[in-house]
Amino acid sequence: MATTFSKSNQVVIENFIHGEWVPSEGGQVEEVPNPATGEIIARVPISTKEDVDKAVQSAREAFQSWKKTPVPKRARIMFKYQQLLIENRDQLAEALTQENGKTKKDATGEVQRGIECVEFAAGAPSLMMGDVLPDIAEGIDSGMYRYPVGVVGGITPFNFPMMVPLWMFPLALVCGNTFVLKPSERTPILAKMLVELIHEAGLPKGVLNLVNGAHDVVNGLLEHEEVDAVSFVGSQPVAEYVYKTASQHGKRVQALAGAKNHSIVMPDCNLDKSVEGIINAAFGSAGERCMACSVVVAVGDVADSLAAKIKEAADQLNVGNGLEDETTLGPLIREAHREKVLRYIEAGEKENAALIRDGRVELREHDSGYFLGATIFDHVSKDMTIWKDEIFAPVLSIVRVDTLDEAIQTANESEFANGAVIYTSSGKAVQQFREEMDAGMLGVNVNVPAPMAFFPFSGNKKSFYGDLHANGKDGVNFYTKRKMLTQRWY
Ligand code: NAD
Repeated sequence: MATTFSKSNQVVIENFIHGEWVPSEGGQVEEVPNPATGEIIARVPISTKEDVDKAVQSAREAFQSWKKTPVPKRARIMFKYQQLLIENRDQLAEALTQENGKTKKDATGEVQRGIECVEFAAGAPSLMMGDVLPDIAEGIDSGMYRYPVGVVGGITPFNFPMMVPLWMFPLALVCGNTFVLKPSERTPILAKMLVELIHEAGLPKGVLNLVNGAHDVVNGLLEHEEVDAVSFVGSQPVAEYVYKTASQHGKRVQALAGAKNHSIVMPDCNLDKSVEGIINAAFGSAGERCMACSVVVAVGDVADSLAAKIKEAADQLNVGNGLEDETTLGPLIREAHREKVLRYIEAGEKENAALIRDGRVELREHDSGYFLGATIFDHVSKDMTIWKDEIFAPVLSIVRVDTLDEAIQTANESEFANGAVIYTSSGKAVQQFREEMDAGMLGVNVNVPAPMAFFPFSGNKKSFYGDLHANGKDGVNFYTKRKMLTQRWY
């Protein structure tokens, strides 16, 4: 893979329409800084609805032949693609750290999770199979066949610039759809690399188009008559807007949204392992994960020792540039985001939560980049803003309760329901947790229970808008329309 750089050593970002890299019609650009240094590493075009229209027309044209391309042939491109992603693993991980800030270890993990999505999509011949039942009545057979939906628009967030696009387009494409990808304008480099590599794997022109930009591109996709389905991943207000707008325009929509994930810690847990899990889930990827642990619910007398151990472990984290081996906590994505997070920390103080670790110390120690150290509030209650809102940063709240009933009730009072974890050695507690927790992705003694690509990414409540989730059989159902054929031959 040969990345193109400008004279000032920035990655050249253009749109990819009908098999060619082309500039946007609009001419507006936004700078893309490396969050660890502030250095400008690319300029992203803020494209227009005209650019979207060209990409959608290209996808519509390519759909005519792509939908007729035999499924095994479509799958073979994914086998080749998977191989190319593996060969470029290090380059992808490095670019990911540079544009998103997450540590090399987290970036390598993300690259792996992305490759697994392509592996899942390569199983298309089995995934696309229908169902047949002969003799539903005398001499009558019935069968269900799967067909692609058409042109799909995919809109993705900054926090997983490799994995989230790969949740979408490989599966959509092997199902016979064509695709227009709109990546986050804050992380356009990975999207460019992903598009380059799939064309190296032999994808025909027009099947996957890339339009960079912001709101106008999103609205262009949501309103376009020739777009049949929209996959969205991002924050809750935008997910709700995308879901409503695309539905009003008659499209099939799945919109994955924000989160506030609770980890319940029981007195009978393995305390050291639980703390290890919580530290990883709360501060990994600088807390910018939709499956991040943002609230710990300490049950009973475990609270004092748990809070002390979490603080002690957080003190050991190394804040710095994710490209350096010793770094365990990278920067936030942008200065504006960090400022918002700082306002949340001030709100926590005003609301009288106990600030037991103040990450603003590390902020002052690092003057380049958008760093913030691990921040921990104890004695947080459900009326506080820091408990209610998704902060999306290395800021952890500890809520203290007396019983498991209270812990589950606390977690279920959140408007979000993405993930939840319990740390315990009691099967009975796990059973109650599984029965009563609203969250769609549950974990027992594991830190981030994100499902593998062959299972659905199944958030509930305000963490998801739609019916069929991303990935797994849900993903196949989302990207296919079913036809029932009932037949009698005289
Ligand atoms: P975001 O909502 O700001 O942006 C997501 C996408 O929507 C981007 O492509 C952006 O350009 C576009 N967008 C932003 N504002 C828009 C607007 N007003 N109108 C139209 N389009 C708009 O999200 P983000 O900050 O990039 O990502 C972080 C969020 O994503 C967090 O809330 C996180 O929880 C969520 N997320 C959820 C999942 C999940 O599976 N549920 C996975 C990853 C991230």
